[in-house]
Amino acid sequence: MGKGDWGSSLAKILIVEDNALNIKLFCDLLAAHGHEPQAVTDSRFALDAARSFRPELVITDIQLPHVSGLELIRLLRKDKELGKVPIMAVTAYAAQGDEERIRGAGAQSYVSKPISVVKFVATVEELLAPKLVPAGAVDEFDDAESLANDENEGPGPGETGGDEDSG
Ligand code: MN
Repeated sequence: MGKGDWGSSLAKILIVEDNALNIKLFCDLLAAHGHEPQAVTDSRFALDAARSFRPELVITDIQLPHVSGLELIRLLRKDKELGKVPIMAVTAYAAQGDEERIRGAGAQSYVSKPISVVKFVATVEELLAPKLVPAGAVDEFDDAESLANDENEGPGPGETGGDEDSG
């Protein structure tokens, strides 16, 4: 346990992006704000990279060869370890309904390309500070969590008070 794993400005951020110039831009911006970016250019390796890097935020392009950004978002959401990591989608071709689809797949935020540096950085900081995220944006995941908790706790009316919390 290092001091200030959370709440400090430093965060591990995984970038999934096939465009080298964007990778450079995103990494420079994040590093300039004290974060630790790691980039994956091939989305087929993104899930494995996320499992070993354990990012506090994933930034993914949507237009990706092999595994699309949407598919990657769904895979991340289904993953036991990574299911709650905030996801920021970045996309160049926003057709009508795209933002809905992206959010529906499980991304919290959506930034269109070419990115505004100010918006990009602000969105990153917002996602890293859960208290700033509007309640509605995390409802889905709260529900998933409470379902899991219900299973663990159960009503157990006949049990003698074994209040064991093995977190
Ligand atoms: Mn792309």
